[in-house]
Amino acid sequence: MRYAILADIHANLTALQAVLADLEKQGGADEVWCLGDTLGYGPDPHECLEIVRVRCSLCVAGNHDLAAIGKLDISTFNQDAARAARWNGNQLTQDEISFLAGLPLKVEKGDFTLVHGSPREPVWEYIMSAREAEENLTYFKTCHCLVGHSHAPIYFKFGESCSTGKPSAGTELKLADYRYIVNPGGVGQPRDSDPRAAYAVYDSEAGTLVFQRVSYDISAVQTRMQKAGLPLWLSERLSYGQ
Ligand code: ZN
Repeated sequence: MRYAILADIHANLTALQAVLADLEKQGGADEVWCLGDTLGYGPDPHECLEIVRVRCSLCVAGNHDLAAIGKLDISTFNQDAARAARWNGNQLTQDEISFLAGLPLKVEKGDFTLVHGSPREPVWEYIMSAREAEENLTYFKTCHCLVGHSHAPIYFKFGESCSTGKPSAGTELKLADYRYIVNPGGVGQPRDSDPRAAYAVYDSEAGTLVFQRVSYDISAVQTRMQKAGLPLWLSERLSYGQ
């Protein structure tokens, strides 16, 4: 079985469509998993939610999803993020709000635990360092854990100590050999200085997870963001992958 792992779509339909088209080109996936933050920042909340609801067999809630439906205090968001969260929230139908309100914070499936931030604190914590990864190791029971939230592809491999890797497109992990915490990177707002949409594919037969990058029409998204009156910095940062 092949599983596509998507995180931080952030209402960016063009990036999401490019990822799904790229996935099909590579043979598709039996299931698509979503690590949260389908909403926030971007201009296409309805379209992204619709695709996630149809395509994703597993989906957890992210901080921006909860912010958009008023289930999370956005006073800690920066001004631009808060504005975009309110804008996204204002677009939602009652049905979409109910869907988001029903999303779990943590899901276990086979060898994986899925969360948005971290298994210790699924909504808010970023796992950016080996120390943070090691501290989280006792908070999930499965072999591996999949996280999003930082929008940067990274993996933590637990051997005798924890080693960290910053993967590029095509980097392959052999998951059978060690325990891992893996972040596939962000679909809709990458922040590792590479503006291409990021995702990963897990192949259960081969036991491999491969990181993927795909270009998309960033200017089309920026035009829609400007039309919607979303903050300029949020559209500009897409060009830089920041
Ligand atoms: Zn995010």
